[in-house]
Amino acid sequence: MKHFCCLECETILGGQRYIMKDGRPFCCGCFESLYAEYCETFSMYGCKS
Ligand SMILES: [Zn+2]
Repeated sequence: MKHFCCLECETILGGQRYIMKDGRPFCCGCFESLYAEYCETFSMYGCKS
């Protein structure tokens, strides 16, 4: 893959932190909004609440 864009807000994720969920990339902010219950699990990726 060359370009990652957040599925939710279409932020370009190249060079930024992102989180893969079911093979789909999300920026941290959207991931928190959509899957807040998983945020602690993915804290290793830099997700902060
Ligand atoms: Zn996003």
